[in-house]
Amino acid sequence: MDLMDPRDPMNPLDQVTARTWLAGAVEEARAGLAEGGIPIGAALHGPDGTLLGRGHNRRVQDDDPSMHAETSAFRAAGRQRSYRGTTMVTTLSPCWYCSGLVRQFGISRVVIGEAVTFHGGHDWLAEAGVEIVLLDDPECVAMMRDFIKNHPALWNEDIGE
Ligand SMILES: [Zn+2]
Repeated sequence: MDLMDPRDPMNPLDQVTARTWLAGAVEEARAGLAEGGIPIGAALHGPDGTLLGRGHNRRVQDDDPSMHAETSAFRAAGRQRSYRGTTMVTTLSPCWYCSGLVRQFGISRVVIGEAVTFHGGHDWLAEAGVEIVLLDDPECVAMMRDFIKNHPALWNEDIGE
């Protein structure tokens, strides 16, 4: 593969692609909010950019505390032979559980909407060689700030506090 080919998993992701992918995760987050859930969305993209799966936090909807946005997208993608070159896109900095999933399966890159309202494990992932693209997206920040203000108990339950 050509060194400048954006499909090459070794090349850093461009901002336009990162923001386009984030929009898909935001749609998921908004769908979750509309269902009465926690507004965190995620999407898993393949090395060539193909969308493999999308999902959102379903703690409330499924009464399942293990169904985080990233887990949901990961499960929607089904079995993959390898996660090398794949990108997990998430509206919020991944918690330890989801950061562990990224490490466990060797996902190469994580695109993060924001890490202002919650700072998860992305520094740890970066130290381990995972490419981190932190977008500081104001829409994602506003969405979580509104949610935390309106549902503090549910938010504290989700982050285990
Ligand atoms: Zn998580």
